[in-house]
Amino acid sequence: MRQIGHFIGGKHVAGTSGRKANVYNPATGEVQAEVALASDAELDAAVQNAKTVQPAWAATNPQRRARVFMKFVALLNENMDELAEMLSKEHGKTIEDAKGDVIRGLEVCEFVIGIPHLAKSEFTEGAGPNIDMYSIRQAVGIGAGITPFNFPGMIPMWMFAPAIACGNAFILKPSERDPSLPIRLAELMIEAGLPAGILNVVNGDKGAVDAILTHPDISAVSFVGSTPIARYVYGTAAMNGKRAQCFGGAKNHMIIMPDADLDQAANALIGAGYGSAGERCMAISVAVPVGEETANKLIAKLTPMVESLRIGPYTDEKADLGPVVTKEAQARIMGLINHGVEEGAKLVVDGRDFKLQGYENGYFVGGCLFDHVTPDMDIYKTEIFGPVLSVVRAKNYEEALSLPMKHEYGNGVAIYTRDGDAARDFASRVNIGMVGVNVPIPVPLAYHSFGGWKSSSFGDLNQHGTDSIKFWTRTKTVTSRWPSGIKDGAEFVIPTMK
Ligand code: NAD
Repeated sequence: MRQIGHFIGGKHVAGTSGRKANVYNPATGEVQAEVALASDAELDAAVQNAKTVQPAWAATNPQRRARVFMKFVALLNENMDELAEMLSKEHGKTIEDAKGDVIRGLEVCEFVIGIPHLAKSEFTEGAGPNIDMYSIRQAVGIGAGITPFNFPGMIPMWMFAPAIACGNAFILKPSERDPSLPIRLAELMIEAGLPAGILNVVNGDKGAVDAILTHPDISAVSFVGSTPIARYVYGTAAMNGKRAQCFGGAKNHMIIMPDADLDQAANALIGAGYGSAGERCMAISVAVPVGEETANKLIAKLTPMVESLRIGPYTDEKADLGPVVTKEAQARIMGLINHGVEEGAKLVVDGRDFKLQGYENGYFVGGCLFDHVTPDMDIYKTEIFGPVLSVVRAKNYEEALSLPMKHEYGNGVAIYTRDGDAARDFASRVNIGMVGVNVPIPVPLAYHSFGGWKSSSFGDLNQHGTDSIKFWTRTKTVTSRWPSGIKDGAEFVIPTMK
């Protein structure tokens, strides 16, 4: 059995805690590796190592730090096929989608190549008599990132790229479901010229997370995962004196106005609802057609599209989506679909019996489409995180707008319309962090910032964009006045004998 340990101080290190977790191939259900789960002592060893090298890294001029990322971006591109396969094999998503996962992280690395400019700060000449005032942004020291299974390439890079570019050392605690890619990324960072010990990967579960949250030498924690854990990490990090940015779950709505291009809207819903088996925090899981006619037409368009989704292992180049990540996830999703039927929603497309010959033990769930879902139902309130789309019919625009606004989550939302006034009103009033206008998954690019509102986010600074530079640095403001020196003391008028 392949053993996955940790990556500390630029080297692979075997786990010593004796605790391990299985890493599955979701398409076959086979255990393909075991990943070590770190103890407090192993996490501490990584931190102690990072402490010795971080000051020199912070003192390395920002252009040199940027050059590591230039090389790293080139290495990601050179190794893209290998990285995507490694990702798909443990996550289950298709190869093309896995490449998208890596590329979205790569784009954050491209963004931080601008670190010499991004981390420049403020200066006021003459803030008082002979007084100048300036602010400098200094690395926080040692940062940590705790990441979910669903984007094992993009999300670690969201965090470690700005953290390291700012001069920090970084401890990454990836998801124990798909830990191979994060370790490979750390190897490539070394190949790109990063000094050993600046990027460390410590695998683990709650034990390693708690060790991070209570470690006195870790100053900042970035978390992405489910809302209950995000809330816990935020509170525990804050109690231990750390800054924290914690991103949680989602239930993203798409409003379809009567004037929308329905073919475009249906295509968008299929990609955003079922791509990556619905395991995206920006997946659209609720469609809100406005008016009965819009709803009926939309259901008529969606039904054959959901029925004909091609579901397969990542090795099937034609597959639209793969399996879900674990047997437990599969059982949970199936349970929610059954519950939705019991609650009275109409299961227009029923994917519960989906089976794939040769992959009977894989964690597949067929595409499901619910109609007549209402806001009081559990399938509406809960994040299903599977290939299940719920249609909630709204009578008018105001009712449609009120749905995402009243929902617990506030990650992403979209509106499909040809009416600029409706779109503008929607973008202005909706209490959701990321809004798409005729764009189904409005994931901001690396130079803007990513983050939801309400129970989708705890903390005040988002991922990537200039927010990330603020999060991974702290401000020091210097007020300086120099006593009069040679300038005033010197005599420029020719001395005379008065
Ligand atoms: P998860 O919350 O189960 O795990 C996330 C991380 O927390 C993992 O590293 C895991 O090891 C750790 N963890 C798990 N249980 C813990 C516990 N009890 N105490 C401390 N740490 C614990 O999430 P997941 O299943 O890996 O990912 C899916 C979730 O992530 C979904 O809810 C999805 O919406 C969310 N997500 C959110 C965003 C976003 O930006 N808002 C992005 C991607 C995923």
